[in-house]
Amino acid sequence: MSQEGQHETTRRGGVRLRGVGKTYGTGEAAVDALDGVDLDVPPGEMVVVLGPSGSGKTTLLNVIGGIEPATAGDIRVSGVELTGRAPRELVGFRREQIGFVFQFFNLVPTLTARENVEVIVELTGRGDRRAVPGLLESVGLADRMDHFPAQLSGGQQQRVSIARALATDPGLVLADEPTGALDVATGKSVLALLQEANRSGRGVLMVTHNVSVARIAHRVVHMHDGRVDAVERNESPADAASVSW
Ligand code: ADP
Ligand code: MG
Repeated sequence: MSQEGQHETTRRGGVRLRGVGKTYGTGEAAVDALDGVDLDVPPGEMVVVLGPSGSGKTTLLNVIGGIEPATAGDIRVSGVELTGRAPRELVGFRREQIGFVFQFFNLVPTLTARENVEVIVELTGRGDRRAVPGLLESVGLADRMDHFPAQLSGGQQQRVSIARALATDPGLVLADEPTGALDVATGKSVLALLQEANRSGRGVLMVTHNVSVARIAHRVVHMHDGRVDAVERNESPADAASVSW
């Protein structure tokens, strides 16, 4: 990669991994979930991570997002070196840089849609509480703001979680199988929201099982046995609306 390319990955939303390993457990029980991963992602790209179950996709997202420490190698996100950081520092990093979207939404069941987003604005001290209704409107939930998660469909819950992820103005959104629990039509509308977030300038790193979803990516990362097997570039990503699975 060129000097310029290397420099790019240190800008807000950029990702640079060198020799990253993550071993769970010790001795006979040790599992190398990540095993020497090198990866460069310039800021502002839509990246799709593909790979069989157990290949390390979730672990990759978790070490990039500072949810879990890597056990080897160097990780730099938005120019911030994560290696060797104390858990408290990683919390600060996550709040400033990362938005998370999970397969099963991870909303607080006792809070309304609006409150689920507001609580993150309050906790992180980022974003504007007054902007929350507009954000929920932009993900199509204008008339569902005061509903609790149990009163919302899966697709609506995932929209709340996307609003929550965007509320802190992250440079990078990490989405782990965000359509995995949704039917195709609903999943496509969720993909469209992530694509919109990307088109407005945020990096998105999304894990999926659906090979066809990779068509919307600028870059496709193939994982196998804890390693990045191949990275493909896609010069003309498709619209989320045109994808099916
Ligand atoms: P994927 O998301 O691609 O299915 P994961 O990153 O979840 O893969 O897991 C990669 C490997 O690490 C698997 O072998 C899995 O069993 C193992 N693993 C993941 N999390 C843990 C954990 N907390 N403790 C022990 N092993 C784990
Ligand atoms: Mg996974």
